[in-house]
Amino acid sequence: MTWSKEGIPHKGWDCIDVVDLAENIDRTSDIPYEQCEMCGNERIRFVHIMRHPQYPHELRVGCVCAEKMSGDYVNPRKAEDTLRKRASRRKNFNNTEWRFNPEKQTYSKKYKGEYITIKRSRYGNFGIFFANKIFWNYNGRKFNSFDSAEQAAFEIFEEFHTTQADRERQYWLSHRNDYGE
Ligand SMILES: [Zn+2]
Repeated sequence: MTWSKEGIPHKGWDCIDVVDLAENIDRTSDIPYEQCEMCGNERIRFVHIMRHPQYPHELRVGCVCAEKMSGDYVNPRKAEDTLRKRASRRKNFNNTEWRFNPEKQTYSKKYKGEYITIKRSRYGNFGIFFANKIFWNYNGRKFNSFDSAEQAAFEIFEEFHTTQADRERQYWLSHRNDYGE
């Protein structure tokens, strides 16, 4: 167990990222849990990636060890909480079914008042239509399957969706000159 190994600092670690191992799996796969590299005991879904200025390797650990290593007993749990909420928003998003439009050959769903659409291009890859934009890739990833497009659709929705109030405000802002204000 790493806690008792010589040469590995116990304190002074920084958390550089927290990853949800359940995030990019499809609905039928099991979560690829990992073992905490510090204590070996925690079976972890949320991996805290830790770095130390006097240690050459990053360590992938669970929440309990991340807290001890960083001396921070607030943010590691907060980070997990944020990811857990995001996972449940993704689940809700995915629970709304896509509707196929045979005429347009598109898949659409209305979610929280906005339409998002997936369409296969004639070259075989997929595009996502949302918020008056077309996305042929997201974060450098192209969508070469419906599944990959569906995963990105959630991320695009999260980044670009607006509420009814936002849209009304935008509309008002873009028209205010018309009213001489
Ligand atoms: Zn641990």
